[in-house]
Amino acid sequence: MSLADVARILVPQRIVDESLSAIRQAAAADDELFLFWSGTLRDRELQIEHVLCPPQRCVHSEDGMGVVISGEALHQQSVWLAAHGQTLGVQLHAHPDDAYHSDSDDRHAVVTRTGALSVVLAQFGQSSLIAPATRVYRLERSGWRRITPAQWSSILQVVG
Ligand SMILES: [Zn+2]
Repeated sequence: MSLADVARILVPQRIVDESLSAIRQAAAADDELFLFWSGTLRDRELQIEHVLCPPQRCVHSEDGMGVVISGEALHQQSVWLAAHGQTLGVQLHAHPDDAYHSDSDDRHAVVTRTGALSVVLAQFGQSSLIAPATRVYRLERSGWRRITPAQWSSILQVVG
C-alpha cells in the first residue's frame, strides 16, 4: 500500500480550521507558514490525524518570500512520523496573492513521496480550503502536476 495508490485523503474539519488559523496568524505578520498533514494509510485511504508545524522562518527578499526549514527540523519530523506510524501526505501553505507552485515550491518540497498533495491557498488563506483560487498539485514520478478542482475535491475530503 503506497501513497500513490491512495484514492481519498480524509481530513477532519478541526485540522482544516487549526491549519487555516495558523496560516492566517502568520499572515498577520506578513509571513508564509508551511504546514504538513500526516495520518494513517488504510486500504486506499489516508486518514489525516495530525497537523505538523516544524520550526521554520520566513525569508523576505526582492523575489518574494519563502520559508526555510532546517535539515535538523525535517529530520526530527521524520523521526516523529516513523515513531508514530504516520504517513506524510499533504503539505499546505498560502501565498499573499495568487496561489501557484513556484520554482522554489517545486525545488524545496518537503513531501517527496509519489502521490502526495501540495495545497497552495491564495490571499494568505483568507477564504476556505475548498475555494476557487486554491491550487492543488499531486506529486508524480515526473514531478508536481496541477490537478483540477474536480479531481482534488474527490481526493481531498473534509469530514466531521
Ligand atoms: Zn509557495
